Amino acid sequence: MAYEKPNPFSEWLLIVRERWPVMRRQAGEWVGQVREEPILLWQTPAIRYCTYGVGVLIVMWLISIAAGSIAPPLPEEAKARAESANFHVICTDERCMHHWMIKRKFGFDDFPVQCPNCNQMTGRQAVRCYSDECKGRWVVPVEREGVEYCPMCNRAVR
Ligand SMILES: [Zn+2]
Ligand SMILES: [Zn+2]
Repeated sequence: MAYEKPNPFSEWLLIVRERWPVMRRQAGEWVGQVREEPILLWQTPAIRYCTYGVGVLIVMWLISIAAGSIAPPLPEEAKARAESANFHVICTDERCMHHWMIKRKFGFDDFPVQCPNCNQMTGRQAVRCYSDECKGRWVVPVEREGVEYCPMCNRAVR
């Protein structure tokens, strides 16, 4: 006797073929019942779960669209911008005193930088002095004993 590998698909087909008339009759009965009482359609678990499933998929789809419009994926440019900061720089050469801004990574402290006005390496990071005299003026603080003072009004700025 030749050994035949059991084929799940053909077995399944055989079962379906055997049961097909019964299934068709049941399906026909079910359709007839539903026609008489439409509420039965909802009481059929398979249909109810399918409806729930489709409902959940639609809700998830809507949520993903809403989330996408609220927070779009961060583009590379925005990421680079988030990692860098603008620094105010003042040229410490008294004849120049040029004030400009540079964009560097957060925590950048490789000063002095080259002044674009006089081309000397005299650009120092500036901070605002909020004393009554300076009223938010940008100054290059001078350090004495670990404390930074405003060169204009001599008040501690940090
Ligand atoms: Zn300068
Ligand atoms: Zn000051």
